[in-house]
Amino acid sequence: MSKWVYLYNEVKEVEKRAGGSWDGVKSIVGGKGAGLMDMTRANVPVPPFFTVTTEACNAYQKAGKFPAGLWEQELTALKAIEKKTGKKFGDKKNPLLVSCRSGAKFSMPGMMNTILNIGLTDVVAEGMIKETGNDRFVWDSYRRLVEMFGTVVMDIEDEAFEHPLASFKEKKGYKLDIEMRAEDWKEVVGIYKEAYKQACGQEFPQDPNKQLALATEAVFKSWNGKRAVAYRRKEGISDTLGTAVNICTMVFGNMGDDCATGVAFTRNPSTGEKVMMGEYLLNAQGEDVVAGIRNADEVANLKKYMPKAYKQFMEITARLEKHYTDMQDVEFTIERGTLWMLQTRVGKRTAKAAVKIAVDMANEGLITRDQAVQRVTPDQVDALLHPQFDDAAMNLAEKEGKFLAKGVNASPGAAVGQIYFDADKAEQYAKEHKQDTIMVRPFTKPDDVHGMIAAKGVLTSEGGATSHAAVVARQFGIPCVVGASAIKIDLEKRVMHVGETVLNEGDWISVDGTTGKVFAGKIPTSEPSLEEQKELMTLLKWADEISARKNVREEVRPGYPTRGLQVWANADYPKDARRARSYGAVGIGLCRTEHMFFEPERLPIVQRMILAESSEARTDALNLLLPHQRKDFDGLFEAMDGFPVIIRLIDPPLHEFMPDEEKLMEEVITMHVKGETEGLEEKEKLLAAVKGMHESNPMMGLRGVRLSISMPEIVEMQVRAIFEAAADCTLRGVKVKPEIMIPLTGTVKELEWIQPRLERIGKAVMSEKKVKFAYKFGTMIEIPRAAVTADHIATKAQFFSFGTNDLTQMTFGYSRDDAERNFLITYVQEGILVKNPFQTLDRNGVGKLMKNAIFEGRAARPELEVGICGEHGGDPESIEWCHMIGNNYVSCSPFRVPVARLAAAHAALNHMPVKKAVTKKPAAKKPVKKVVKKAVKKVAKKK
Ligand code: PEP
Ligand code: MG
Repeated sequence: MSKWVYLYNEVKEVEKRAGGSWDGVKSIVGGKGAGLMDMTRANVPVPPFFTVTTEACNAYQKAGKFPAGLWEQELTALKAIEKKTGKKFGDKKNPLLVSCRSGAKFSMPGMMNTILNIGLTDVVAEGMIKETGNDRFVWDSYRRLVEMFGTVVMDIEDEAFEHPLASFKEKKGYKLDIEMRAEDWKEVVGIYKEAYKQACGQEFPQDPNKQLALATEAVFKSWNGKRAVAYRRKEGISDTLGTAVNICTMVFGNMGDDCATGVAFTRNPSTGEKVMMGEYLLNAQGEDVVAGIRNADEVANLKKYMPKAYKQFMEITARLEKHYTDMQDVEFTIERGTLWMLQTRVGKRTAKAAVKIAVDMANEGLITRDQAVQRVTPDQVDALLHPQFDDAAMNLAEKEGKFLAKGVNASPGAAVGQIYFDADKAEQYAKEHKQDTIMVRPFTKPDDVHGMIAAKGVLTSEGGATSHAAVVARQFGIPCVVGASAIKIDLEKRVMHVGETVLNEGDWISVDGTTGKVFAGKIPTSEPSLEEQKELMTLLKWADEISARKNVREEVRPGYPTRGLQVWANADYPKDARRARSYGAVGIGLCRTEHMFFEPERLPIVQRMILAESSEARTDALNLLLPHQRKDFDGLFEAMDGFPVIIRLIDPPLHEFMPDEEKLMEEVITMHVKGETEGLEEKEKLLAAVKGMHESNPMMGLRGVRLSISMPEIVEMQVRAIFEAAADCTLRGVKVKPEIMIPLTGTVKELEWIQPRLERIGKAVMSEKKVKFAYKFGTMIEIPRAAVTADHIATKAQFFSFGTNDLTQMTFGYSRDDAERNFLITYVQEGILVKNPFQTLDRNGVGKLMKNAIFEGRAARPELEVGICGEHGGDPESIEWCHMIGNNYVSCSPFRVPVARLAAAHAALNHMPVKKAVTKKPAAKKPVKKVVKKAVKKVAKKK
């Protein structure tokens, strides 16, 4: 018969089944189960437990009932726990109570169900009161069970319990739970049982076994609950994994003042600082802290009340962090002075903390630099470069009296939006009305996650840094302030008050998750500076060092790079180039020269040039443009001193520089109607010229190299400007590396036609100016024909740059301007395309063409330099592909450069040639916990 249940001390058996893989262990007993078993083996004090496997969950999902043998195995395991604890499930005298908690392979905090105090019944309660002499604790625990069981297992609305409790407290004149006495809780148990019966038509079960069976089933079911499914979609977790169920002996933090419960992170999950950050509550149960319902005390203060347990806690958590070589998120309970660890897992963190922790841990020698680089995701780097509130603007807002409140800075970043007081509305206004929304709640619960994800920011008036709102916001990088207690929210009237200020739904506020401050109205944001983020700079430097290592490519062929990818940038102006350089770009991979033609003082000259009826008239206009272009290029070369600069010759169809045809027509008609004659003739001429340029498919028409062949004067001027600027710079001592790029080539004959003319101009300029510098002529590969005839193209081109925007358009035959709004979304939704191919390279089609082009291109010219300058150059998955097929560099927008640097290093680390592997197997996967064992022994000795 299948084994569905494992006891706390059966980790070896699970390992055996998993073939020795720790990842496999987690797949079977879930992350939480694996962690608990691992801690138990290491003699960390964990209450005895057993785990129902994910396989049992999957079998349940298939059959809609427990698989054969599961229940019997649960009962056997329960017996073993009874033996170990000396207590008995359902016993009157010395009862065992258990918790029932979900635990999937990957942590999904708060997404699935937990039920505590299972085993409590009327009879057991009386027995427990006799045993503990603490009737307040017993009735409090019992009412929690009825409530949790009711809401979680029987799907009863929270309000069915919350409202009666609120009116009970009001009647008694109590504000806090702490004021409730034993007989009050006893009365509430009665009220809750009645509410339970009303809501589901049955009595609250008095059979502990029935409670346990239903609770196990409820956890299984919660795997397919709305919020768990939404979470998995967002995090890319597979639906087929299933959740394990951990049935654990209850230990109580609410038996009196020598009891406590808390959650903590071994480092600050918001800033990454190396200080324990957590909260505890005296005389309370775990969910009070997590839900943030009662404002908890900082864990450091526990030292004052329970020095011995605190010391043991600090020792154990330090060892756990060292053992797992990562920041841990732990849950603990102190029952009558005895510490119990209930959970340890890798802690979720903000982007900022992820970077700091990775860099610090590498500096502490806990992990390697390679591991540090691998621990941070490109998305996290991206988040760190997102806008922050402008300091000056915040000060001004404060002076203007817009400051509303300060709470805990739970998740950094600036959020400006319109407030809504529930998750559904926050989501609805964000999605349907395209508003920037801020979700404002007293506190959040797992049911609120959809609203949080849709909102730009989250604000709560209650709860602390480990409350649900804080943990979830951090994980998703949503700016969040919690516990802003000056804010009073009236959910019925849908208003919030701060002193005299009243804000209604739909009003604007600004939430600063970095400082915890909240303001009325909109505060402008500014871009954060990379230079000021020291740890990020260090991490990116390490990333560059990885990419610059020799022999990090799997593909070894003549001319192929052996080092990783370089990151260049697409930049048109010197200021962009300077930014790109400050972000770490080591070249310009694309300067779109035509952008400069649009500047107000140049456009009329450009139009004159286009309308010229003779080559001389065109050259006259171009001569006026030459000094402008020379200045542009001069600035670029100077900004990129010592680095290559690829300048693309004019690419778009000329009509883009002309007035809109329809608008012109309207103007002409209006003039005729009004009888205006002044300027009419010129307008009509212009209209005729624009009409003459009309093309049905301009993106496939007279553009790129075709335009250069039809009107060579334009590119001749551009090449002269490039070489003159390069020569002037060289004379000033700037090191130039110009590369001239011809766009939209489809056949080598085009290059054979145009390139020699341009090279002649370059040489002429160098001899006129009496300077010499190295330069290259190359082409974009944007047309499938160019990719499949790359061996021919490379006979002329010294470099290739994949223009994957056009290459994707031409390969799929999808208009890049229209496809996204027409059918692409449907294609992705329907699974016809896995991803939008304009965002992430289509490896099987476009990617294959690229691979072939590099292969054939280098066969003809081994030293061929290869890059990419389409939008994909900043997309991590596409960057990985470019590494795999042998690109020398990727080029992307300056803002994406840091992301691309990290992605390039990841690609190098993930595709190391097997022999040369340099990454160590992460220590976290090693199952044996000698370090922790030693630590615990040490603690034990000291006691
Ligand atoms: C491309 O096609 O990928 C490219 C970079 O050129 P553009 O986007 O200017 O057409
Ligand atoms: Mg293009």
